[in-house]
Amino acid sequence: WDRPLGVWYLAEHHPDLPAVARCPAGESLTFAELAARAHRRVHALRARGVGRGDVVGMALPNDVDILVWQLAAAEAGWRYVTLNPGSPAAEVASIAEHAGMKALVVHADYAERAGAVTGVPVRVSVGGRIDGFVPQEDALHGHPVTAPPDRAAGAPLVYTSGTTGRPKGIWRDMPDVAPDVMADAMKSFAHAFRFRPLEGAHLVSAGMFHGGCQVFYLSALHVGQPLVIMGAFDAAETLRLIQEHRITTGYMVPTQFARLLRLPEDVKGGFDVSSLESIVHSAAPCPAELKKRMLDWWGPVIWETYGGTEGAATIAKPHHWLAKPGTVGRPIRGMTVKILDDDGNELPPGRVGAVYLDGGGRGFRYHRDPGQTAEVFRGTAFTLGDAGHLDEDGFLFIVDRIKDMIITGGVNVYPAEVEAVLAAHPAVLDSAVVGVPDPEWGEQVRALVQLSPGRAPSAELAAELIAYCRERLAGQKCPRAVEFREELPRTETGKLLKRLLRDELSGRDA
Ligand code: ATP
Repeated sequence: WDRPLGVWYLAEHHPDLPAVARCPAGESLTFAELAARAHRRVHALRARGVGRGDVVGMALPNDVDILVWQLAAAEAGWRYVTLNPGSPAAEVASIAEHAGMKALVVHADYAERAGAVTGVPVRVSVGGRIDGFVPQEDALHGHPVTAPPDRAAGAPLVYTSGTTGRPKGIWRDMPDVAPDVMADAMKSFAHAFRFRPLEGAHLVSAGMFHGGCQVFYLSALHVGQPLVIMGAFDAAETLRLIQEHRITTGYMVPTQFARLLRLPEDVKGGFDVSSLESIVHSAAPCPAELKKRMLDWWGPVIWETYGGTEGAATIAKPHHWLAKPGTVGRPIRGMTVKILDDDGNELPPGRVGAVYLDGGGRGFRYHRDPGQTAEVFRGTAFTLGDAGHLDEDGFLFIVDRIKDMIITGGVNVYPAEVEAVLAAHPAVLDSAVVGVPDPEWGEQVRALVQLSPGRAPSAELAAELIAYCRERLAGQKCPRAVEFREELPRTETGKLLKRLLRDELSGRDA
């Protein structure tokens, strides 16, 4: 761990080391090739007037280009925004405007969404032509592949998932340092999650635009682990890639675990996963039962982190989680976790309150949103809006998002508790518990259920599910009604979009 690492160092001193072992377009690249591509993009956009501190947006699918453009931004000192290519056109346009983009790089597959973006002066298209955009080949033509002389560090301007409202941009103060210092930050992250330098390979199976996924593939890359990049997630393909590339590390979200576990037994048992060392998950609550089954199958290699786009807060090592199932772990180095009541008083272990994280002033603010910044901070501590508690040993347990809490007849109900009960019923594949306005109770607990394959919706089944909850939960927490849905709205990182369900139900019931 003491030796120098980082993409730029590796490109110079280990030029032939593989950096991308596999990607959807079928290419593989060495560190030297990767760095050369990044350098060329820096020259190309600088020539078009994009300077240090300018914001560069990218709407690119999982492939080499998104990686190369991020590295270019990191050495040019641009702020970069990776847009979720699956977002509707209006959201892409609103983020482009809110971020104040100077340049935008879009894949031709997303031409329609890109068309909605106006007012961005420099526009580049990848993989085909888009009206009003310069094709990447033309933009790069004639520019050198050598490192630019005045390299600075660029930082991402990451937008949150927009689960509870409009996506918020996270603005960190940009350190006035060389790009290698940024690589060092990634190196300490890799260290914390036991990614071994210059050994193994990293599987990228989530969306590369997502901040959580990004931190881990960049960490792996900076310590010299080649990336194996998947396009759209496919459970059986994941196992095949793990076996073929002897994958050691990766980042996943809980819905991917659920899809892996649903594979037929012969497929699950048909691949060698013994190379795995550290698979990290975060982004959404992982039901304890699901995680237990993954640990039984893959062994003690499942690590967890809790945090948000604002920053990672805790780590749950596999053996810690096995000793305390359901925990999201203890604070990472340099971070403290406190549980506060509504008045800001610290609560003792076991008491549920708002989870506050304190990085000792390693600050961020919400881009162009001082009101939101003021709302989440208490001194140097900030909250992501989750409720939770600590135990006597300082392990954190997340109860639910505060915004999703239902207040019915004056009683606080955390939907996650009800969803966990429903998840144990064999007819239930997925569920979302939400509060709908009720003249008598304030809010009424309503369960929306996606059934397991082969189960049909019926009034009897709805009554059975309510009775099942009644046997296991206090009366007020039980759903008053159950509705069946073909599918529940989740983001690709597995977050339930409850605000959509609430809006729909309250509009309909009004
Ligand atoms: P927005 O802030 O725009 O509503 P978001 O809260 O989903 O979106 P993200 O930063 O993408 O924004 O996600 C952070 C949230 O993800 C956390 O506040 C928490 O609710 C959830 N989360 C992250 N990791 C975990 C985990 N290990 N267990 C449970 N929930 C988690």
